[in-house]
Amino acid sequence: MNYRGRICPLYFLRCHLIKKVISTILLILTILGLTGCGEKKLARYQSEFIMLFDTSTRIVGYTRTKEEFSRYSQLIYDSLKEYHILYDIYNDYEGINNIKTINDNAGIRPVKVDKRIIDLLKFSKEVYEKTRGKTNVAYGAVLKIWHDYRTQGLEDPENASLPPFEELKTASEHTNIEDIIIDEENSTVFLKDPLMSLDVGAVAKGYATEQVSKTAKGKGMNSALLSVGGNVRALNNNVTTNQPWNVGIQNPDPEAENPVFKVVKLDDGALVTSGDYERFYTVDGKRYNHIIDPATMYPAEYFTSVSIICKDSGLADALSTALFCMPFEEGLEFINSLPEVEAMWIFKDKTVRYSENFESFIKEGQ
Ligand code: ADP
Ligand code: MG
Repeated sequence: MNYRGRICPLYFLRCHLIKKVISTILLILTILGLTGCGEKKLARYQSEFIMLFDTSTRIVGYTRTKEEFSRYSQLIYDSLKEYHILYDIYNDYEGINNIKTINDNAGIRPVKVDKRIIDLLKFSKEVYEKTRGKTNVAYGAVLKIWHDYRTQGLEDPENASLPPFEELKTASEHTNIEDIIIDEENSTVFLKDPLMSLDVGAVAKGYATEQVSKTAKGKGMNSALLSVGGNVRALNNNVTTNQPWNVGIQNPDPEAENPVFKVVKLDDGALVTSGDYERFYTVDGKRYNHIIDPATMYPAEYFTSVSIICKDSGLADALSTALFCMPFEEGLEFINSLPEVEAMWIFKDKTVRYSENFESFIKEGQ
């Protein structure tokens, strides 16, 4: 899987081991009623589970009973699990055609897939246009090389190395988004170029979070906060205070006194961060993160993190990856040109910059 969120490599390794043992078991670590338990009174409940999208999912919500919250929690888990399987690029599942199946059949044949895959890929093509080619789900050939070198470098840090430029260059010739042929009528996807592959790691988690949030809302979950590995989506506001939810943005500096960098107010919207501080490997003392700028074929190095606030969590995810790959001036102009999208950039020297209205989302006194 390629959806590791804001978690450290050690945590990931641990997750990976656990995953092997109890592959698909839902772990509800906590289901807590923290305030009043009366029949009619709304109470705050919380659940957490691991495994999906190789990260942890947290749900906080207000419902009248614990059972009602458990039902929503289960619904979210079941739905996210289906997305996780469909959008997986590393694993096969019996009887299911997923993104990996499409990759395995590149240049061979169209693959019949679930509508949720067609929708993700249509969304990804739009995103490619919107982000001026920076977020490219057809960039799998190059991303796979970096992924393999990173994995090897983490396993054997002494011998960590960088991919040869020529190898990257050759792979980059097989990353044309137009070569993803979507046939909606027959519900098939065909990769025209046999050497290309899809990597949906930049968009899948946010897109799935958005779809699942909509489903939960449609079923009556009226006040909740869903976080899938840091892709945060607020369902309406906090019903007990009638105020937006307060959501912390992680401090990229692990040594910092306060692990929360800023607290922002979210009312029925999304907050997504892309950063260089959790998924990286080190070669000759220099860090190489997991977001690759298609312009250079190398990890983008402009910032430590970029956070996006907008209504749609799928768009926020796609934009955070894209913005991470753009110089600040270009990114600022880009974000300010998009309606209802705000961004915060944290530079390597800890300088912070905001788009036009980002600061209006920061909680007073933060
Ligand atoms: P995270 O998954 O850590 O939350 P992102 O949303 O920024 O972070 O996605 C990063 C993942 O997206 C990478 O692990 C890789 O699989 C993929 N990726 C990296 N660079 C690009 C790019 N330029 N275009 C599309 N996908 C990318
Ligand atoms: Mg992203």
